[in-house]
Amino acid sequence: MVEVHKVSGGPYDSNVFLVMDERPILVDAGMSHESTLRNIAKYMDPKKIEMIVLTHCHHDHTGAAVALREATGGKLAIDRHEVGALGDDLATLAHMFGRMAPECKPDEILTEGTVLNLGEWNLEVMETPGHSPGSICLYEKDAKVLFSGDTVFPDGNIGRTDLFGGNSEDLIKSVERLTKLDAMVMYPGHMEVTDKGVNRQIQLSLRFAESVF
Ligand SMILES: [Zn+2]
Repeated sequence: MVEVHKVSGGPYDSNVFLVMDERPILVDAGMSHESTLRNIAKYMDPKKIEMIVLTHCHHDHTGAAVALREATGGKLAIDRHEVGALGDDLATLAHMFGRMAPECKPDEILTEGTVLNLGEWNLEVMETPGHSPGSICLYEKDAKVLFSGDTVFPDGNIGRTDLFGGNSEDLIKSVERLTKLDAMVMYPGHMEVTDKGVNRQIQLSLRFAESVF
């Protein structure tokens, strides 16, 4: 039985999820590595983490990525469109957080259809640009689980597209793709995890996106 725990460390950090399967991974890294490591240690030895999958390059999701890689030994993975953005203060929006993006080279490069085999779960990478050029979602079709990054959030919310590299038309198309999935649980990049009518919530996100853009 796969367990997922929210292990984010700070109030402005993105959600950081610990996915405890045979090969444990983190989804996103947040900005606060020390408190995140403490949270992980409540459940397992952080050194057993095999991969840190970044849903996109923004600093609130990636600021602690380098430090967490060092502490856990997990490989850092990001979509092919954001390899160059990591380490860039502008693309990662690190300047908005009053910080600098740490120099960072990923170990694994993800693309549409990449499957991350964790043991019981196979997380499929969906490229869902719009919030940023290389935003991804991760979908497990048997467990009907969606890690939605900053593409969609609960209650019909959507990722903003007015930041560096954002594109509203792309976001609408990406959300439309997500409406074709069958998801029972959504693990979003911000806000709370939800298992209440997730497909309907994503439909609401699409309607909202179409009405505002
Ligand atoms: Zn973001």
